[in-house]
Amino acid sequence: MTKLALLGGPKTRTRPFPAYRTIGAEEKAAVNRVLDSGCLSKYLGAHHEDFMGGPEVRAFEAEWANAMGAKHALAVNSASSGLHAAIGAAGVGPGDEVIVTPWSITVSATAPMVFGAVPVFADLDPNTWTLDPASIAARVTPRTKAIIVVHIFGQAADMDPIMRIAAEHGLTVIEDCAQAPFALYKGRPVGTLGHMGVFSLNYHKHIHTGEGGVVTTNDDRLAERVALIRNHAEAVVAARGVTDLNNMLGFNFRMGEIEAAIGRCQLAKGRGLIAARLDNVRRLEARLKGLPELRIPSPREGDYHVYYVHAFRFDVRAAGVSRDLYVEAVKAELPLTEGREGEGVLVRAGYVKPIYLQPMFREQICFGGTHFPFQGPHYGGKQNYRPGLCPNAEAANADIIIHELIRPPMTDADIADVAAAFQKVHDNLDELRELARTREAA
Ligand SMILES: *Cc1c(COP(=O)(O)O)cnc(C)c1O
Repeated sequence: MTKLALLGGPKTRTRPFPAYRTIGAEEKAAVNRVLDSGCLSKYLGAHHEDFMGGPEVRAFEAEWANAMGAKHALAVNSASSGLHAAIGAAGVGPGDEVIVTPWSITVSATAPMVFGAVPVFADLDPNTWTLDPASIAARVTPRTKAIIVVHIFGQAADMDPIMRIAAEHGLTVIEDCAQAPFALYKGRPVGTLGHMGVFSLNYHKHIHTGEGGVVTTNDDRLAERVALIRNHAEAVVAARGVTDLNNMLGFNFRMGEIEAAIGRCQLAKGRGLIAARLDNVRRLEARLKGLPELRIPSPREGDYHVYYVHAFRFDVRAAGVSRDLYVEAVKAELPLTEGREGEGVLVRAGYVKPIYLQPMFREQICFGGTHFPFQGPHYGGKQNYRPGLCPNAEAANADIIIHELIRPPMTDADIADVAAAFQKVHDNLDELRELARTREAA
């Protein structure tokens, strides 16, 4: 009676996993406080004391800066907006190149294009899936202006060598910390290692305000430039005495008072939520470390990996079946997660296809029907976004298994069920191989 659920046997578990719900009484009280105040936002897009927003936004920013060890924190309405503002603040423009990762949400690579620059994809370190410093160094040209580094899945990129390369070539480094709040690199907080850090508060992330983001920096000038781009820079520069007009076309990237009030509560809960998540990671890894088909990557010495998701590398030779079929079998054993039923079982074969394989890059068409910013008289380089450009990223996407079944309030018993599903598939790999043969024959 060990038959796999994929083959009609009983599921390892049918009762749904509990929702990751971080919003509670504190947030409710905070929202009511804002509603009662009557002030839902307090920005003026003018040189005025309200240029920097209302009381909740400012308090949230001060608390965020303090918690993350940064001199400045600027609240924005998403990490995407934050990346756009950071690129603008860095002075990136047409003709420039920005070195980016191929393996993240698209905005980690497309942000430079908003200011007319060209993304240049570097490859990944296969052990951490973050940008490989050697690949970054190989991609630097006289046109390179900045690097966007993503601390993917909650693990810090190898920042020391990256900052050395940046210093050597005068590049601005932007850390995309969307998946890594509170993460440490060799004991130092992410978001303070490069020139700017960008955090996300969308509802998928460790802590959230529905939608939202924060930009951190220790640099006064960059902080001012982010604040300008956030809030209609072009209308404010004259009165503020700003003479460097580079990228002083502003946007409305402002966070409202309600989100800021929620953000303050979430920030206070963040470390505890992550500690609970890490307990689950340890429990699961202890149970699964004997399965040869699952390679569990270990974080770098001295790092604090915050596990936005938990990932395995799949060893197809040890399993004798494809990664995709294995994941299909694991998913069949497990239930949905409350609140996210529509997404299916929260286990995935692969993460995202390398960004340079998206049609916009393959065709090099973005603004109107032109090839701007990829081609034209403004740009002296040439990109060839093609399969094989970043072999490690392509290989990673072919062998990774990602899952979210580590989020509190998952308990030890819940984690035991997750492990039991993997173990059951492992114990019945012969059934799965037989299924693969049947499917091939059909
Ligand atoms: C979620 C995410 C973003 C974008 O965050 P938004 O707040 O939704 O704009 C950027 N980068 C990474 C790595 C992300 O995971």
